[in-house]
Amino acid sequence: MCLVKDCIFCKIIKKEIPAKIILENEGAISFLDINPIADGHTIVIPKKHSIDLSTTDSESLKYVIQLVHDVAQLYDGSKLKPWGFNYLSNQGSIAGQEVNHFHMHVIPKYAKGEGFKFGKEDRIYIEDVDKVYEIIQTQISKNKKGTK
Ligand code: AMP
Repeated sequence: MCLVKDCIFCKIIKKEIPAKIILENEGAISFLDINPIADGHTIVIPKKHSIDLSTTDSESLKYVIQLVHDVAQLYDGSKLKPWGFNYLSNQGSIAGQEVNHFHMHVIPKYAKGEGFKFGKEDRIYIEDVDKVYEIIQTQISKNKKGTK
């Protein structure tokens, strides 16, 4: 376990601050969000500190996604009985990340318009899909050749 002193989620792992813990496994822990946007809104984090999804190692990712799965299954079988879920991770302050310890939100969905909203209506700067695909393909080719 690698813990960072001033990280609020590391403090939850160390039980230095209280949290409504739901389930945990060897490498991840889950607890209720302190400011939920739906009943059962849950945070799932790796026990080993990392900042965001792209900098998290594969082992921690496996523990986290397994726990996301187990939490969803738990809620499905409970009286909460969500109609669906949004699984979400914000990366970077521009994307809404407030806590710099990688976490997945498990957000139960009960009714259209409640809980998490996928804001397609807010699209502003969208490039042509063919152009975007070309940029990505160019990078894949470069990566295969070992260039940047
Ligand atoms: P994000 O904006 O993706 O970084 O999400 C951080 C989430 O952590 C927010 O939904 C907060 O409500 C939640 N949060 C922050 N501090 C705590 C805490 N001490 N216990 C539980 N949830 C927290």
